[in-house]
Order: sequence, then structure tokens, then C-alpha cells
Amino acid sequence: VLEIQNLNKSFGGLTVTKNLSISVQEGQIFGVIGPNGAGKSTLFNQISGYIRPDSGSIVFNDKNIVGKPPYELCREGIGRTFQIVKPFGSKTVLYNVAVGAFARTNSRSEALQKAEEVVKLVGLESRKDLLAKNLTIVDRKRLEVAKALATQPKLILLDEVLAGLTPSEVDEAVELIRRIQQSGVTVLMIEHVMRAVMALCERVLVISYGEPIAEGTPQEVTQNPQVISAYLGDDHHA
Ligand code: ATP
Ligand code: MG
Repeated sequence: VLEIQNLNKSFGGLTVTKNLSISVQEGQIFGVIGPNGAGKSTLFNQISGYIRPDSGSIVFNDKNIVGKPPYELCREGIGRTFQIVKPFGSKTVLYNVAVGAFARTNSRSEALQKAEEVVKLVGLESRKDLLAKNLTIVDRKRLEVAKALATQPKLILLDEVLAGLTPSEVDEAVELIRRIQQSGVTVLMIEHVMRAVMALCERVLVISYGEPIAEGTPQEVTQNPQVISAYLGDDHHA
């Protein structure tokens, strides 16, 4: 469903994506891991149209999507969450989710209906009328996922949605991601919580300094000496 070939991006002299290629099959849960500052979020920004690559192709459903703006990609079926979540704090949970649904419909009642459905799916039903600024960390993460789901993606990009969660909250979120996959959505997830990567991902790409250094099953990549040294090697941006 997603084929990326020889993607490159630099910010001035800093190379953040170097010759990166990946192939994500429909229905898969595909993981992207790597040390802080490796270029993972920048990769998502390129796939979702927020940053234009310097070179390379990104093919989604057989179409090269490089150069298309985020709203268009959203309508074509690429949904995403942001690592730093910024809901409309003084609006309700339901309102925030409905904003996502407006990517697909101009009808207020349809958007609200979709929002109700998604709010239930992520487990926010009892908090749907709270103002977003009053949510706990885990509920903010749920809201972020709900907003992306409300756009009815075929492919969802999850950027560290498990960060800051307690172990039992991680377990619940793992179940949610599994349900998302089972509903027919392909999942591409950036994640530092290795337990979740192990449980969910069929394949994993490891990035270090913008460069892909390994790809395979979670078991394969975590045993790869190059991957281990990329994580231990210390000179990495703290
Ligand atoms: P983390 O695990 O901490 O979220 P990451 O792998 O997502 O890290 P990115 O956010 O993609 O890393 O950043 C990769 C590098 O690119 C970092 O050195 C960052 O400072 C730099 N960078 C990101 N966006 C920009 C930008 N718009 N302009 C200049 N440099 C940027
Ligand atoms: Mg990031």
C-alpha cells in the first residue's frame, strides 16, 4: 500500500533522511524505531505531506504522492497522529474528534456520528463531553488517535502514541492498535516501547542518523549488532 524509494531530505547541512526505502503491505503493522533525533518524525512528515522530500518517491495506492498537501493526502486515506499533541483545549473531546471527521464530510450530523463511533472505539466515551485541556496524558493520546481515525484512513501513522503511558495503559493501547489493524487499516508506527513493537509489528525498520540500518522482524532487528550499537552508542543526540 506504501512504497518509498530512495528518499532523501536535509535541513541545511543536516541530513535527516538518507536513501530510505520501505515497502509496507496492506493490512500490516509496520514499525519504525531508532534513537532520538534519528529522523523518524521527519519521515512521517514527508509521508503525510508536511515536509517535501529533496528526492525520492513515495507511492501510496499506486500513486506518487510527493508534493501533495496534507489535507489532500488525508482525504486520500493517510491519517496521522502528532508526537506533540495539541487538541483544541477549550473544546470538548467530541468536538475535537469531529474536526477530523470533517475531512470526509461536510455534514455536521455525519461528522458527529463518526466522532461518536470513534470515541467509543478508543475508550473515551465517558469523557466525550470533557474539555480537551482537562484530559489526562493517556486520554490525550486516545484523543490524538481518535482524531486520526475520524478521517477514515486506509493507512494510519502513529508517532509514539505509547510514550508516557503506564504499563497497563500500554497494554490497553496495544489492544487498541490491534483492533485498528483488524478493522482493515494498515498501521505504520514509530515507537520506543519495545514490548509493544515486539507484540504488534510484523516488520520493523531501524533508522540511525537518518539512515536505514536494518529491517526485519522485531526479533531479527533487536539481535542485529549494528542496531544494538546504534542504541548504545552514546554520541547520539540526547
Ligand atoms: P525523537 O525520537 O526524539 O522523536 P525523531 O527520530 O523523530 O526523534 P526528528 O524529529 O525526525 O527525529 O528529527 C531529526 C533531526 O532533524 C533532529 O536533529 C531535528 O533537530 C532535525 N529537524 C527536525 N525538523 C527540523 C526542521 N524543520 N528544521 C531543521 N531541523 C529539523
Ligand atoms: Mg519523533
